[in-house]
Amino acid sequence: MRRLASTRILATLGPASSSIEKVRALAQAGADVFRLNFSHGSHEDHAARYETVRAVEAELGRPLGILADLQGPKLRISTFAGDKVTLTPGQPFRLDLDVKTPGDATRVGMAHPEIFEAIEPGQDLLLDDGKVRLRIEACGKDFADTRVITGGPLSNRKGVNVPHAVLNLAALTEKDRRDLDFALTLGVDWVALSFVQRADDMAEARKLVQGRAGVLAKLEKPSAIQCLDEIIEMSDALMVARGDLGVEMPPEDVPALQRRIVRACRRAGKPVVVATQMLESMITAPTPTRAEASDVATAVYDGADAVMLSAETASGDWPIEAVSIMNRIILRVESDELYRKLMNADPISHDSSSSDAISAAASQVAESINAAAIVTFTSSGLTALRVAHERPATPILALTQVQATARRLSLVWGMHPVLCRDCTNFEEMVQIACDMARLKGFADPMDKIVVTAGVPFGTPGATNILRVARVEE
Ligand code: PGA
Ligand code: MN
Repeated sequence: MRRLASTRILATLGPASSSIEKVRALAQAGADVFRLNFSHGSHEDHAARYETVRAVEAELGRPLGILADLQGPKLRISTFAGDKVTLTPGQPFRLDLDVKTPGDATRVGMAHPEIFEAIEPGQDLLLDDGKVRLRIEACGKDFADTRVITGGPLSNRKGVNVPHAVLNLAALTEKDRRDLDFALTLGVDWVALSFVQRADDMAEARKLVQGRAGVLAKLEKPSAIQCLDEIIEMSDALMVARGDLGVEMPPEDVPALQRRIVRACRRAGKPVVVATQMLESMITAPTPTRAEASDVATAVYDGADAVMLSAETASGDWPIEAVSIMNRIILRVESDELYRKLMNADPISHDSSSSDAISAAASQVAESINAAAIVTFTSSGLTALRVAHERPATPILALTQVQATARRLSLVWGMHPVLCRDCTNFEEMVQIACDMARLKGFADPMDKIVVTAGVPFGTPGATNILRVARVEE
């Protein structure tokens, strides 16, 4: 069963999608990568879902990716005497470090000294996903006196966003470290870091992960946007995390940022995921709104590697339908003439490596000779990434003897990863490339394919051969 679409689908697993029947149906409908969301659920839940995806992968014979999404530093207020208060616009409201005294309509505790250290008068604090907005009028190392700008109900332990300050927080909380260890023991292919503030956060994550998984940065803070290029450089993949980004920044800023981030990632050749609320209404309805269909299409036209579903597949009523319609929107956009025009409009840069040069050439040669597939032998996945970077009109078959590489590549635009046996000489490689292109439904007898490889085989980043081969009868 070959995937016809090039843009990949990332589906979050949750209570609505944990049975093997559901996971199989999601994969068959078009999900390529599954997200384990460590903000919810126990380690046992995640372990069970991990095993379920691997069982489906074995059944379908198609590499599937698994991404562990770490919660990150989620900041919260403490509790209220009556569990809840209502704030009126214009009233004063105080936040302090005294979490022992329950809050009331005039104050509440917040056990995060690093917030008080970083804030300044004039800045805003956002509570409960931005529903309540407080403007800081005065502050010290253990308090902030604020004025309520947007009021409303506020209850125990609601989240706090501090959009305009860089907080002195570790990249990974204690919980993140425990979750990371656990996820790596399971064998996940990707690890996502939430609320990344600076490139150093990614450096720290890389040190802990030690190459056992790809490291993805979730861009959901204004401070991350300010050092976007550095973060891209330090990451294996990125996510436009529009949920929290849209809390920390005005909603009208999100579309322009989405475009800017996708462009920057594409230029750097790093996979980029567009996430959150893509088919939000499908949590409770079997069909999306026109605006949602258009939102998915926009991400595809922009050339994102993958689009993500969150609650739609994790806890919604229509998880399979959500993936199906997303896949149909992707296929429709990708068959539009304008799609390729837009895709080719952005010039992409190349470095001086032979891998990059050969990947660029492979894409051009394939198009000129109307090849049925580009077959690239890759061990680290790097060569395959360089080919995807070109966004060729020809499907990309990534042949690898490394299972982790095949799985990791399932997040990448246009990639059809295939696990293959080790081979020693180039003639054998060409033979395997032809056989696989036929077997996987990409080529018919007499079709031409373009093969790239590095000889000796299995040396990362050593792609030095490009061959046109004809698939035999
Ligand atoms: P989340 O991340 O679903 O883990 O919050 C995505 C986002 O913020 O958009
Ligand atoms: Mn988020």
